[in-house]
Amino acid sequence: MNTVITGGYVATVDEQGTEHADGYVAVVDGRIAAVGSGAVPEEFAGLERVDASGCLVTPGLVNTHHHLYQWATRGYAQQEDLFGWLVALYPVWAGIDADIVSATAKAGLGMLALSGCTTAADHHYVFPRDGGDVFGALIDAGRHIGIRLHAVRGSMDRGESEGGLPPDSIVESLDDALEQTERAINEYHDPAPEAKIQVAVGPCSPFSASLDLMRGAAAVARRHGVRLHTHLAETADEEEQCLREFGLTPVDYARNLEWLGEDVWLAHGVHLKEPEIALMAETGTGIAHCPSSNARVGAGMAPISALVDAGAPVGLGVDGVASNESGGLAEELRQALLTARQRGGPKALTARQALRIGTMGGARCLGRDEHIGSIEQGKLADLAVWRLDTLKHAGIVDPVAALVFGRVPPLELLLVGGEPVVERDHLLTADEPSLTRELARASARLADS
Ligand SMILES: [Zn+2]
Repeated sequence: MNTVITGGYVATVDEQGTEHADGYVAVVDGRIAAVGSGAVPEEFAGLERVDASGCLVTPGLVNTHHHLYQWATRGYAQQEDLFGWLVALYPVWAGIDADIVSATAKAGLGMLALSGCTTAADHHYVFPRDGGDVFGALIDAGRHIGIRLHAVRGSMDRGESEGGLPPDSIVESLDDALEQTERAINEYHDPAPEAKIQVAVGPCSPFSASLDLMRGAAAVARRHGVRLHTHLAETADEEEQCLREFGLTPVDYARNLEWLGEDVWLAHGVHLKEPEIALMAETGTGIAHCPSSNARVGAGMAPISALVDAGAPVGLGVDGVASNESGGLAEELRQALLTARQRGGPKALTARQALRIGTMGGARCLGRDEHIGSIEQGKLADLAVWRLDTLKHAGIVDPVAALVFGRVPPLELLLVGGEPVVERDHLLTADEPSLTRELARASARLADS
């Protein structure tokens, strides 16, 4: 839809951090045709208008790490650390199938859209042998909800019998994992700048994927020019295990496998040390920062101020909702800011830096920063319009602080490629009561299995 959003406060998150009080954003053919302040230029004056008075306009938020299937397993293992939590949950996840993934992915992507997210990465690595086409179900859910989906074809080949944590029934053989990963890329990856669906490659973690799978997956990804993703340096336990098994820290392990680089983004990076932070920046390796999830399992908190200062790409992630029952991305802006300050004091992260991580930083992690992540002429029109004139925010002197320090504001409008996906806190692309019923049914099926 061609439209011009007028009268709002526009935080562009461009290189200079340009902001326009009384700003406008013109949207033509799915892209941003103009952005500025004051009167709308004549050539766009005839477009349908969206009145954004009392609102803040930001780039759509970018989620860099999630496991949508976990929407069916919220509230489990509440007092466990990561390994205890995984051991408790793997047997439950062994019961997922394409129907459960369909219901949970639609619910999870819908909830992300309602929290201002226009692009989401999902890391799916559980493929039970009799679960049907779970990856196809994930892709269909992305198309249905209408935000951009980076579907990461995950994999595990180290079951309990190989010293891994997952039960053998949910791991694949090395050959199957690589073959199915390649099939997913061939079938679903769209390399176009305006793509709604892209595929990345993501062996789950060093404690559930073998060396051969890590190496083979990297080779597949690089052969097809798609991105690489895995969990790394999430907990102290993981570091101990890596040192014990390989005599290497998780980062050195990744480096030896050529798993650092501009085509790689890693979930967590909680336990990165100083030289490793510099290495992330030097190699252009992205970090998906998931503050709520890290806090829930008591993993520690990633050194994101140092990563940002060093120039490494840092994005935000909700992580799977079995470790972050909220599943909303906007609230992670506040979590990132508060937890960074708990580590490094009140200057550790500003509201604008938090917003940049949640938008441009995420776009860099996913390799989409040329086309999304900021409000600039020529970029895709992925926009969030937040209402700030209700009791929740009225009178907060700085609109960006209102969004980041305050409650999550009502979402007046969410556009993906210029198309409305959310209007006045209502999802336009799916019926919320039926998403809710399907989610409850999927959760009950797993709880009973
Ligand atoms: Zn994760």
